[in-house]
Amino acid sequence: MHLEIINTGTELLLGNTLNTHLAYLGENLLPLGLRVDRQLCIPDGDIIRTALLETVGRADIVIVTGGLGPTSDDITREITAGLLGLPLVENAEVFDRIQERLRRRHREMNTNTRRQAMVPSGSIVLHNDHGTAPGLYFPPLPMPENPAVTSPHIFLLPGPPRELKPMFTDAVEPLLRSICAGRTKLAQMRNFHICGLGESEVARTVETALLALGDDIEIGYCARLSEVIVRVIGNAEQLEAARMIIAASFPMRFFAENEQTMEETVVELLKKFGRTVATAESCTGGMIANRITNVPGASSVLNEAYVTYANDAKISLLGVPPALLAEHGAVSHEVCEAMAKGCLERTGATYALSATGIAGPDGGSEEKPVGTVFIGVAAHDNHPPTVEKHFLNLDRLSFKQAASILALDLLRRRLVHPQSTVG
Ligand code: ATP
Repeated sequence: MHLEIINTGTELLLGNTLNTHLAYLGENLLPLGLRVDRQLCIPDGDIIRTALLETVGRADIVIVTGGLGPTSDDITREITAGLLGLPLVENAEVFDRIQERLRRRHREMNTNTRRQAMVPSGSIVLHNDHGTAPGLYFPPLPMPENPAVTSPHIFLLPGPPRELKPMFTDAVEPLLRSICAGRTKLAQMRNFHICGLGESEVARTVETALLALGDDIEIGYCARLSEVIVRVIGNAEQLEAARMIIAASFPMRFFAENEQTMEETVVELLKKFGRTVATAESCTGGMIANRITNVPGASSVLNEAYVTYANDAKISLLGVPPALLAEHGAVSHEVCEAMAKGCLERTGATYALSATGIAGPDGGSEEKPVGTVFIGVAAHDNHPPTVEKHFLNLDRLSFKQAASILALDLLRRRLVHPQSTVG
C-alpha cells in the first residue's frame, strides 16, 4: 500500500521546530507492514489543498499532521472537508469534551475553540485526550469533481507530539491494521551497532551473508561517531539469523542492538560481572563519566571520576610521575597508562579508564597532530594495562564524543575478552 505523509507547519520550514512526526510515524508504521513512500512538508495555510489533491490517485493512505487547532492558520479540517465535498456539522460529543477540558482549565469556550467541534459528516472522530482538537479519519470517497476517482484513506492528526503520539497508538493504529489486513507483509527492523570499524569494511564483511537470507531482506548502513549501524528489515527468523551472522563476523566489535548505547552496554556488563570502574580523563573533560552516569543504576558501578586537565592535576591526583610528563608529554602512551594505573590504585575500582589527547583546533604538532588521542584501561584482572592510540579528525565536541565512546568500548572489550585487549 502506498502511504504518504504531509506535515504542515510554517515553524517546521523555518527551522524553529524539528519535524519529529516523520521519524515517529515512519518507525511506528513499519511494524504494520507500511512504509512511508513520500513525505511533504508545507507551511500553514491554503497550500494543504494542492498537497492533498496531488495524493489522489497516487496514495492509498495519507496522514496529515498539524493545522487542527483553533487559530486562523489552522485550516486542515476545513480544506479536507471542502475537497471531499463534506459539510461540517457540530459534533455534540466533541463539543462536550472541549467544554469539559476548558472548564477544568477555568477557560471559556469562544468561536475559535468551538470551530474544533465542527466535524465533516462521514468522517470518524479520533478523540484527543491530551488537547482540544480531535483527529479525523476519512474513509475513501468518490471525489466530487470526478466521482470515478476515489480519495485515499485520509488521517488528520494534531501537531503537538504529546497529542499525536497517543492518538496514533489508540486510534490510528487499530484503523490501519484493519485497512491493511491481508494487504501488507509484516516486517520488523533491527539495528546492530558495531564499534571501531569503517562503514565499507562492515558492509564488505557481512553483506553477502545477509543478502543470502532472502530476496525480501533489506539492509542499510549508517555511520555514526565511532560506530556503524547495520539496519536489517525482514521477518523474525531473518532478523535472528542476521544477528548471528553479525555476532560471528564481529565477535569483538558488535556491542548492541536497536536503541542500546555503548554506555548502557558497559554498565550492564559491569553489573553482570559485579565490577566497578573509575575514570581519569583529560581531553574528554569528564564525558566518559558523564556517559556512564546517564545510565540508570550507574551508582553501583562507578566509583570515582577525575578530570585531570593540567599536568599538575595528573601528578597530584593520579600520581603520574613528573619525569614521564617531561619526557613524553601529556598526550602519550606512557602518560595515558600512568593515568589509568594511578586511578586504579587510588580508587580501588576493578577497572580504571583514562583518556588524553589533543582536541584542537590548536596544540597539535607534526608528531602529535590535532585529533591524536590515547585511551587506556588498567584492571585488577591479572592482565597488564592496555593503551590504544586513535586519530579522530573531528571538531572539538565530536572529538570528545568519539573518544569517550572508544574508551568505553575499550573497557567493554576488556570485560568480555580480557586477553584480546592486552598488549
Ligand atoms: P494546536 O492546537 O496546538 O494549534 P495543531 O494541530 O493546529 O495544534 P500545529 O499548530 O500545527 O498543530 O502545531 C502545534 C505545535 O506542535 C507546534 O508549535 C509544534 O511545536 C508542534 N509540532 C507541529 N508539527 C510538528 C512536527 N511535525 N514535529 C514536531 N512537532 C510538531
